[in-house]
Amino acid sequence: SMSKKIDITALAEGVRAGDRRALARAITLVESGRADHRTQALELLTLLGSDRQAMRIGLSGTPGVGKSTFIESFGLMLTGQGLRVAVLAVDPSSARSGGSILGDKTRMDHLARDPNAFIRPSPSQTQLGGVARRTREAVTLCEAAGYDVVLIETVGVGQSETVVAQMSDLFLLLLAPAGGDELQGVKRGIMEMADVILVNKADGDLKAQATRTCADYAGALRLLRKRPQDPEGFPKALTVSALETVGLETAWDEMKTLRDWRRETGIWEQTRKDQASYWFKEDVHQGLLQLLLDDPQTKEQMQIAQSEVTAGKATPATAAETVLSRFRRS
Ligand code: GDP
Repeated sequence: SMSKKIDITALAEGVRAGDRRALARAITLVESGRADHRTQALELLTLLGSDRQAMRIGLSGTPGVGKSTFIESFGLMLTGQGLRVAVLAVDPSSARSGGSILGDKTRMDHLARDPNAFIRPSPSQTQLGGVARRTREAVTLCEAAGYDVVLIETVGVGQSETVVAQMSDLFLLLLAPAGGDELQGVKRGIMEMADVILVNKADGDLKAQATRTCADYAGALRLLRKRPQDPEGFPKALTVSALETVGLETAWDEMKTLRDWRRETGIWEQTRKDQASYWFKEDVHQGLLQLLLDDPQTKEQMQIAQSEVTAGKATPATAAETVLSRFRRS
């Protein structure tokens, strides 16, 4: 639990020094809904600045595809190279189920015990927008703490993939070996977000199937419009085995190739700027909406208008207009 008076300067120093407990406390602070914590969180983020940059990698895939196995293997490979790895999660289902199915340390047992790794489960929040802001700030905190790679895990549910893609430098889509017709199950919009598609479980009896699936996706990717900012051959489809740690080095090499290219062309920085302005707008929109909904007069008007709708005295549209008319300056 959070003490009443937090020494923000000391907390910032702890985070900058790479102290994992300080980082965990800092994330708890940015996740808090309390107004005084919010003020302190903003103070902390300002103190920390943004001079350190990690490679932010978004990772999506349906439950059972092997996300946690992949994060464990891939994360350990990176820490084995001397890199520091943070794992965050955006889980829109955590609010409903009460427990997160992502970022669960017990599913990434070895990585969780690695001193060069930091794993944080998804904050529970009813609003995806709330989870998004908290995760973005957690990413910033991990960067300030000197992590080289920040993995942001999500499931392929609703808007969560878009949210993660909007805070990532690179976006990975993890898929399972499948029959040809299942390929259509992956939505075009999600395919378009992916920089690298990884067909997992390319081992044992599943290997041949994984290779075929990978070729199918490579074909499908070629049909999508190539992004002008990317080098030849991207987006790419590769096979991996998270369980047997096969193909992970190749996947990492491809990610670095894409990173270097984007840095040289300026796309990397431009994308971050675009993301920053996207999130600025989102925060303002969400904040304005909340301010209005919290306004006592609006609340009262909404209640009255709503009862007229349920009583059949007003249509939804006219009742809504009654509430909104107060804000129109004409
Ligand atoms: P998640 O729900 O996406 O996080 O998936 P998990 O990492 O929990 O994996 C789901 C199941 O698939 C587990 O039984 C894993 O052991 C298995 N699995 C994960 N990766 C591989 C792989 O590369 N090969 C094989 N054969 N099984 C895998």
